[in-house]
Amino acid sequence: MRVVRVRHEGRVFYASLEGNQVQCLNKDLGLSEPLPLDQITIMPPVAPSKIICAGLNYHAHAREMNKAVPEEPVLFFKPPSAIIGAWQPIILPSQSSRVDYEGELAVVMGKLCRHVSVDQASEYIFGYTCANDVTARDLQAKDGLYGRAKGFDTFAPMGPWIETVVPDPSDVTIVTRLNGEVRQEGASADMIFSPWELVSFASSVMTLLPGDVILTGTPPGIGPMSAGDEVQVEISGVALLISPVVSEEDSGQVHGVIQ
Ligand code: MG
Repeated sequence: MRVVRVRHEGRVFYASLEGNQVQCLNKDLGLSEPLPLDQITIMPPVAPSKIICAGLNYHAHAREMNKAVPEEPVLFFKPPSAIIGAWQPIILPSQSSRVDYEGELAVVMGKLCRHVSVDQASEYIFGYTCANDVTARDLQAKDGLYGRAKGFDTFAPMGPWIETVVPDPSDVTIVTRLNGEVRQEGASADMIFSPWELVSFASSVMTLLPGDVILTGTPPGIGPMSAGDEVQVEISGVALLISPVVSEEDSGQVHGVIQ
């Protein structure tokens, strides 16, 4: 099932997406009839308490970066205020002169959990979506920490929907295109830690809440984006996420909007 988060007449709720209409999944709202797409606004698919990211989780990307394969997952965070939905623009901050795409498979949690085993992890996962771990590469190197480089507004595009039925998330293909050209192509089978291992490991550190997101790392081929570009992250059996890219000067945006 494809699940979208939508706004309709001032209310935000989850709905199933079927063809060109959606069906509200919250029975308390009394919206029993399907709604056509032109009566709703598609929102970012999650409003999480945290976005947990795995660094260096593909063997091929570790080789590309001349880094050793980590013995345990290496986690960092992006702020929820960085989330944008599909077709919303990535804004290139004037503080950075190099902003990269990183196409990634995103795990969306469905239930509260803590200390969940690898074998049990799938029971706590709601579904999967496409994400872009947008990164100011120059600031990552300059700061030595990820807070600024990964945390700008619009640096976490996700969506457009959550796919709840992914038969084998350890066997999907992640493709990133820049202006239609393939720049990254990786298989989740090349992950150092599987989605279930990442859920288990993260839950050994912190409580995971429904809607929390885990970005599972990026395959090789990372590279910069420029204003006017369009970046796509497509994951087989999951979704296609499209994001235009604009400069901060042209965005007209001074402050982010948490959606
Ligand atoms: Mg990443």
